[in-house]
Amino acid sequence: MVIKIPKDRFTYKFSKYVPPAAYARPGDVVVFEVMDNLSGQIRSEETPLEAIDIGKRNPCTGPLYVEGAEAGDTLVVDILDVKVGNRGWIRVFPGGGALHDKNFQPKIKIVSVEGGYVTFNNLKIPIKPMVGTIGVAPTDGEIPTPLCGPHGGNMDLKILRKGTRIYLPVFADGALLAMGDLHAVQSDGESGITPVEVDGEVMVRLEVIKGRSPTYPIVELEDTYSIITSGTDLDEAVYRAVEESVKVLMKALNTTFQEAYMLSSILVELRINQVVNKLKGVRAELSKNYVSIKDLLS
Ligand code: CA
Ligand code: CA
Repeated sequence: MVIKIPKDRFTYKFSKYVPPAAYARPGDVVVFEVMDNLSGQIRSEETPLEAIDIGKRNPCTGPLYVEGAEAGDTLVVDILDVKVGNRGWIRVFPGGGALHDKNFQPKIKIVSVEGGYVTFNNLKIPIKPMVGTIGVAPTDGEIPTPLCGPHGGNMDLKILRKGTRIYLPVFADGALLAMGDLHAVQSDGESGITPVEVDGEVMVRLEVIKGRSPTYPIVELEDTYSIITSGTDLDEAVYRAVEESVKVLMKALNTTFQEAYMLSSILVELRINQVVNKLKGVRAELSKNYVSIKDLLS
């Protein structure tokens, strides 16, 4: 059966204290209808900066309680489809993004997202719809939706699109999955801080792996697994990604730290997710020729 969660059932934090918006069982298909990243506050290109309530940033639809998911398990989310609205917005403002020391007038651009393209002036840019924020509740307390971490969250991963599978560690009963922050298209880095922000809906199928979980979220593509890490700067995010990759290679290849560390220079592809959020994010990509999912769960 297909469960639909409307966009007015949303939260600004990942927490087990947020009441579930819906319940599902493993195997169910669920559609999350989501607002854009500023909860619909960008009405025109003239929307002044001071009219934007930054507290209404990163609304995530949910949370969804998944029956049978408990701490120590893995929630497996197959992204079956990502549909985006036909109107997107992009904005830049002083203090935001990789060039945060530059002084300039803030600017908003409204773009059409139609026929498979974003129209930016005379550029036709093919869309690649993706989910910027997806995560589960932590063990206790709350994590604001603009942050990322082992629970997932605001990872801004351009590979999180239709056909992708993500494995999230479960920390609380029901996992409490929530998502939002759709982008019609985004590059690795997300340098200017907003790509093409859109509303839309995400269709997923859920499964639960009992008794094992990853240290960090894992994204599966056709030929690869990616370990998703973050840190207060890129160095810290990279350290965690390499440390976890070496651990996984030791297990997968039944080898020593020294040999796995050697192989990290040969087999681990480090890529930037985003450099603009409070916590910066990278991914370590490993070929399925060398590792399997059991090596990534413990
Ligand atoms: Ca984001
Ligand atoms: Ca965004």
